[in-house]
Amino acid sequence: MALDYSLLPHDFRRQYLPSAVNFDWEDLRRFFSELASRTVGSVPELEKWLLDEAELDSYLYEQRSIRYINSTLQTDNPEFTQAYQKYVDELEPKIKVANFELLKKYAATPYHSELPEKKYGLEDRRRLGALGIFREDNVELEKQESNLSQSYLKTMGAMTVNFRGQERTLQQMSKFYEEPDRGTREEAWRLADGRALRDHEILDDVYGKMVALRDRIAKNAGFANFRDYIFVKKDRFDYTPSDCERFHNGVEEFIVPLSREIDRERKKRLGVEELRPWDLRVDPDRRPPLSPFQDAEGLVRGAGKVVSRIDPELAGYFSRMADLHLLDLESRKGKAPGGYQEELAEVRLPFIFMNAARRDSDVRTLLHEAGHSFHTFLMRKEGIPYFNAGAGLPLEFAEVASISMEIISGEQYEGVFYNREDAARSNWEEAVGNVKLFAWVATVDAFQHWVYTHPDHTPEERVEAWVKTFSRFCGLESYDGLEASRAYRWHRQLHFFEVPFYYIEYGIALTGALGIWSRYKKDPRDAIEAYKSALSLGASRPLPELFQAAGLKWGFGPSDLSGFARDLRAAMAEYAG
Ligand SMILES: [Zn+2]
Repeated sequence: MALDYSLLPHDFRRQYLPSAVNFDWEDLRRFFSELASRTVGSVPELEKWLLDEAELDSYLYEQRSIRYINSTLQTDNPEFTQAYQKYVDELEPKIKVANFELLKKYAATPYHSELPEKKYGLEDRRRLGALGIFREDNVELEKQESNLSQSYLKTMGAMTVNFRGQERTLQQMSKFYEEPDRGTREEAWRLADGRALRDHEILDDVYGKMVALRDRIAKNAGFANFRDYIFVKKDRFDYTPSDCERFHNGVEEFIVPLSREIDRERKKRLGVEELRPWDLRVDPDRRPPLSPFQDAEGLVRGAGKVVSRIDPELAGYFSRMADLHLLDLESRKGKAPGGYQEELAEVRLPFIFMNAARRDSDVRTLLHEAGHSFHTFLMRKEGIPYFNAGAGLPLEFAEVASISMEIISGEQYEGVFYNREDAARSNWEEAVGNVKLFAWVATVDAFQHWVYTHPDHTPEERVEAWVKTFSRFCGLESYDGLEASRAYRWHRQLHFFEVPFYYIEYGIALTGALGIWSRYKKDPRDAIEAYKSALSLGASRPLPELFQAAGLKWGFGPSDLSGFARDLRAAMAEYAG
C-alpha cells in the first residue's frame, strides 16, 4: 500500500526548479547556494527571490510528505520506514542549516522592510521570529527528537490484541466501547488498556527523553523553558501562556459542570451505580451503535452526498480526491494510528489518512479531514506562495476549517447516513463530544504547561501532575482499581509525543467552529460563503483577522466559554427531542 504519486496532475508549472530534480543533497545544494549567493538589489528582486525559495520549499515539503505518508500507511514495511528515516537522518539536518543561511540573507537585506505589507507582512514577522530562535546546535537535537517520534509511532502501531478470535488494532477495539452489553465493553476496554499498559515503561522512557531534549533545545535558543520557546516557534503572535491559563479556568468554570451534568444523566439512563471508563461511549439508552456505512466505499459515497448538500464547489473538491485515490480510510494492521490530512505541497493536493471502524465517529473524522482538504483546495491558486498557504497556515485556523465541517455536516446526515432519529442522535453525540473536547483540550494543554515548566521532574512527579490535571477537568467516571490506567492514559495521546503543545489550537478552533455552526443554522448560504472566503486567505492574514473574515469573534476566555456552554446545552436539548 503506497501513495501512487504518478497519477497526480501537476497543475502548477515550476518557474525556478528544473523539471527533473533529485531528492539528494548533491542535487539540492546547488539551489540553496544559488539563492544564498544571488544579488538581491531591489524590492521586486526580493519578491522574485522569495517566490523561488517558496518553490524549492514546497518541493522539499512534498517529498518529505510522500515519505511520511508511506511510512504511516505501512509502519512494518522497512523500505518505507527507511526512506523516511534516511530523509530525517541525512537530508533534513542539511536543509535546516541551509534554510538558516537563507533566513540570514533575508534579514540582512534592507528591502524586506519595504515589501508590501498585505502580501508579506506576516511572513516577514514569521521569518524574523524563526531567525531569532534558530541555533545550529539544535539541528542534531531535533534529529534525535524526530527519531524518538518514529519509535513512538512504531510502538503504537505494533499494538494489537486478540479479541473474540481476531487480532485487532487498538483503534479497531474502540468500536466495542459503544456496545450496549456492559460486559463486552468492559472486557474490550480492559484488554486494549492492558495491551497499552504493557509498553508503558517504553513509552514513559521515550517521553522522558523527549522532554529533556526539548528543554535543551529551548535553553540553547536562550529561553527559560520549552513552553516559552514553542510560543515563538509556533508563531503564536496573538495569544500568550496566560491566555491559555484563562482558557483552562474558563473550561473549569463553565464546561466541566456541563460535562459532569451529562455524565450524571448518562449514569441515570444507563442505570448503573457508578460510571466506569468503558461506559462513556455507549448510547445512554443502550441502543446499538449507529451504523452509518458498510465499507470505505460507502463512507466515501455518503460523505460525497453530504458535502454536495452543503456546497457544490466543496463537493467538486471531495470527488476529485476520491478520483485521484487521495483517501486511505480503512484500518489495517501495521498502519499508524489516528487520522490526518497532509498537503502535497507542490501539486497542491490533499491526502487523507484515517482508521475507519464503520462508526458514526468515522463519518465525523472524514468530514473533519475533508475540511482541512477544502482549505488546501481553496488556497490552490496561482500567486499565493507556499509560505502564505500550507507552510504558514496557523493551526488555530486550520482547525476551524476542519471542525466546522465536522459539526455542520451533521445537519445533512438525514437521508444519507441516517433516518431522522439517528441523525439527531448523531448530532447529540457530536455536541456531547465537543463539551468533552473542550475539557480534554484543557487537560492536554495544562499538563504540557506543567511538564515543560518543570523540566527536572521525575517520572513519578509527572504521573502525579497528570492525575491532578486529569481530575481537574475530567467527568464522573471512576478509576477505582484502575489507577495505573489513569496514570498512563496520556501515553495514548499522540500529540504529547509527536507534536508538543499542539492542542490548544483545537480549543481555539472549536470556538470558531461553534460560531460557524450557529451561523449555519440561521443562514447556511451565508455561513458557507464566509467560511470559504476566510479559508481562501490562507496564511496571509493574522489569526484575529482570519476569524473576522469568517464572521467570528476572536477570544477564548471565560466569558466566551460561558456562551459556548450555553449554546451546546441548547443544542443537546434540541437534538434529544
Ligand atoms: Zn484537524
